[in-house]
Amino acid sequence: MNPYREAFAGILLAVDNASRAAGRPNAGRLLAVSKTRTPEEIAALAGAGQDAFGENYVQEALPKIEALRDRGLEWHLIGHLQSNKADAAARAFDWVQSVDRPKLVATLARHRPAGLPPLNVLLQVNIDDETSKHGCRPQDLDALADAVAAESRLHLRGLMAIPAPHADMARRRDAFHAMRKLFDGLQVRHPGIDTLSMGMSEDFVPAIEEGATMVRIGSALFGARAKKETG
Ligand SMILES: *Cc1c(COP(=O)(O)O)cnc(C)c1O
Repeated sequence: MNPYREAFAGILLAVDNASRAAGRPNAGRLLAVSKTRTPEEIAALAGAGQDAFGENYVQEALPKIEALRDRGLEWHLIGHLQSNKADAAARAFDWVQSVDRPKLVATLARHRPAGLPPLNVLLQVNIDDETSKHGCRPQDLDALADAVAAESRLHLRGLMAIPAPHADMARRRDAFHAMRKLFDGLQVRHPGIDTLSMGMSEDFVPAIEEGATMVRIGSALFGARAKKETG
């Protein structure tokens, strides 16, 4: 018995339905958010067919990535990245979705091992939460994207956002819509970008309808997180 098979199938179906309804079949890729989950839990979801996992903290992720090395999983860092953890992140992850400042770009590029493919990078945008210190401002996006694109050890893939968790879904939808506009604008400058990461368990359907190509889902797959996350 795989405890996650049913939830996994349900989410895949919902993502697929939302993509079709938005006129973009197969557009939505599923990232399973595995913060606070054990390697055994992650292995069980991988056994159901999921191959990409997102972690918030470098220190929490490293032993899990090591424990599951022979599984061939793809690892995404989705939490805020401190500069002093960027070297470890550059070695361990396949994607970093939370790049939001020039200093990180240089450090990630310098530490990405030569034997690995270029590190996939999403730029995190602070789309509507003025109180959050994380994410770059929309007006700084072009310069940051150019900096990533100039690094041969980095591969600019697109944008990521964590809109403020407004109870009013219409306001979240506004943020998703604004992100899609930023993404389309950046694509003119960088035609190779292909990924817009937005939407979580509560709001992935409107996110896909507004143009997400990747949704990040934790609790709807694994069940509610028992304890508050720690770094
Ligand atoms: C925790 C987290 C998610 C997943 O949240 P759920 O509500 O459990 O789906 C997605 N993205 C980021 C950046 C997160 O920290």
